[in-house]
Amino acid sequence: MADSVRVRQVILNEMLAHARRETRIECCGLLAGRDGVITEIFPATNARSSATAYEIEPRELFELFRYLRKKELTHLGQYHSHLSTENIPSPTDIEQAGYPDQAYFIVSLRADAPNPVRAFSIRDGSVEEIEIIVTRTEK
Ligand SMILES: [Zn+2]
Repeated sequence: MADSVRVRQVILNEMLAHARRETRIECCGLLAGRDGVITEIFPATNARSSATAYEIEPRELFELFRYLRKKELTHLGQYHSHLSTENIPSPTDIEQAGYPDQAYFIVSLRADAPNPVRAFSIRDGSVEEIEIIVTRTEK
C-alpha cells in the first residue's frame, strides 16, 4: 500500500475520543471514505472485551461492510487502542492482520505517548509505519 494515508481531522478527533471513553478494554472500529481519504469512522464492539487484544465483533463487521457497499464507500482502514503500551502493532496485531491494503491506526492512551495516533501497514507479517496526512477539505 501507499506510504501515507489521508484522513480528516474530525475522524482523528473521534478516534481519540472513542479510545478515551474505553478505559478498560481496547476500543476498535472501521474507517472508510472515498478517493483515498478517510471521511467516515464506525466505532465497533470489541468482541474480545480485552485490555490487550481486539476483534471487531464479526456480525457488526458484516453489517458495516454491507453498509459501505450500499453507500459506495471504500474500506480504507481500521483502528484500535492500546491502553498502556506504545502504539505500535503487537505480535497479536501482526499475526491477526487480515487487510494488507488498508491502514491500521493505533491510539495510545499513555500520557507520555509522543504521537497518540499512528498508522501502519501490516502485510505478511511485516510492519511499516505510514504517514498520516490530515486533511480539512470538505470534499
Ligand atoms: Zn494492538
